[in-house]
Amino acid sequence: MMQNTDIAVIGAGPAGANAALTAARHSLSVTLLDEQPTAGGQVWRAKSTAILDAPNTPETVAGSRLRQEIDDSLVTHIGAARIWQIERSEKGWNLYVLRQGRSEVLHARALIIATGAREFVQPAPGWTTPGVLGLAGATALFKQEMTLPGKRTIVSGTGPLVFFVASEIRRLGGEVAAIITPNSRGDWLRCLPAMVSRPDLLLRGARWIADLILGGIPIWWRHAVTRVEGQTQVASIEFRKLTADWSPTGPARRVEGDSLCLGNGLLPATEAAQLAGLWLEYSLQLGGWVPCQVADGGTDIGGLFLCGDGTGIRGAAAAEIHGRLAGLSAVQHLGADTRAERDRLRAAFHRAARFGMAMTSLGIPRPGLLRLTTDETIVCRCESLSRTDIAAEISSGAGSTNAVKSGLRAGMGPCGGKFCQTTVARMIAETEGCTEADVPPPTPRPPLRPVPVAALAGDFRYSELPIPKPAPL
Ligand SMILES: Cc1cc2nc3c(=O)[nH]c(=O)nc-3n(C[C@H](O)[C@H](O)[C@H](O)COP(=O)(O)OP(=O)(O)OC[C@H]3O[C@@H](n4cnc5c(N)ncnc54)[C@H](O)[C@@H]3O)c2cc1C
Repeated sequence: MMQNTDIAVIGAGPAGANAALTAARHSLSVTLLDEQPTAGGQVWRAKSTAILDAPNTPETVAGSRLRQEIDDSLVTHIGAARIWQIERSEKGWNLYVLRQGRSEVLHARALIIATGAREFVQPAPGWTTPGVLGLAGATALFKQEMTLPGKRTIVSGTGPLVFFVASEIRRLGGEVAAIITPNSRGDWLRCLPAMVSRPDLLLRGARWIADLILGGIPIWWRHAVTRVEGQTQVASIEFRKLTADWSPTGPARRVEGDSLCLGNGLLPATEAAQLAGLWLEYSLQLGGWVPCQVADGGTDIGGLFLCGDGTGIRGAAAAEIHGRLAGLSAVQHLGADTRAERDRLRAAFHRAARFGMAMTSLGIPRPGLLRLTTDETIVCRCESLSRTDIAAEISSGAGSTNAVKSGLRAGMGPCGGKFCQTTVARMIAETEGCTEADVPPPTPRPPLRPVPVAALAGDFRYSELPIPKPAPL
């Protein structure tokens, strides 16, 4: 049973884990919670027991080191623990945690939220066909299970993940049919000045691309997937050239494959921060809507701290340092002076962030991207709503994501809007002639994650229920 802790950290990725480790060195009790059973987050996801002997990669090595550090520290790490509600209390924070089928409450004097990012996929006709996976989501398959998306995979999307995923598929023995990316070579060249700040990462990326070119894999720069074909499984895809604003143009080409990894960048996962009471602001450079923050992971709510990709997509290297800064800020809030330590970390954070934000810039959506979502395309997968359905709702007066949600249930399904709300917001912005910055995400509501009713009801016998006597007639 969980009860009290000085500092609770939600998310055991590079940011949250480093926040917890840093704070625990200052003799405070620290509880690190994550819905994944093992620490490491998305980037340093642990191998499952079935593949423990598989060759190591830079990600598995970094993840193992982090997990060992947590084991050797005074941090209480609780895995497979899902936070579904956050409440501010007089003395700090109450976290409602779903664990082993039960809901428990953890009280913390300070709270650090490090919930990372989620993937954005621009819906295109057929994107819900079995065999289509998120580009970032596919990395989880490789790291955790060494499983391939299929026998012959098309890899499509923005930024560096497209080359990482294609390289991993080849390393694991799969075939890459083609790489299709909206980015041009010029987009990449513009990132070079920022990328030289991390020559190690630059070299790794260059090796992926060189290996793919030498392997004869066709790379279609400034192109996008415009249709996925196949009844019960991906059979082929259609793709087209993009204009400078990323509108599809020219004749369609086709490539055959049984699977497609598709992604258009990452979005900060802000729901937990919103539920804790923070307002959001829009930052194109940081990946979209981000919680309002002050320096070093602090916020203007006492005892609440944030770090990592959930505050803006700056990448794993920056997330680690941001975590340490947030951990130190939380320690400062609880009484110790950590200013000198934070001063020493800040320059490294800005250097790492510069590299990460250059990668994020490659995924900044251009207006034409929305053209990939044709009228018949499903936008809300949970409720099977097409672009036409959502456009009709917007035309009838629903001018906010909240209005579309209450009118159509887009965002009320199991994913809680994670897949559709960005496209809905962009459709509203297009119709209203404003920008996405004028269309905030829907009001956050608990539960953050689905909660079984049994977990809330607990154990009881019906005979134990007090049944009031009938009122006298
Ligand atoms: C699917 C995916 C795959 C990615 N793969 C790569 C990659 O291969 N290489 C790369 O460089 N970058 C990758 N990224 C980007 C990468 O995640 C980040 O740059 C980096 O991991 C950020 O670290 P973080 O600690 O901020 O977040 P994360 O590493 O994402 O950690 C956040 C943690 O919070 C936990 N969490 C979130 N909400 C809750 C909740 N309500 N209750 C309990 N736990 C919660 C999550 O389970 C997760 O472990 C990926 C992103 C995504 C979304």
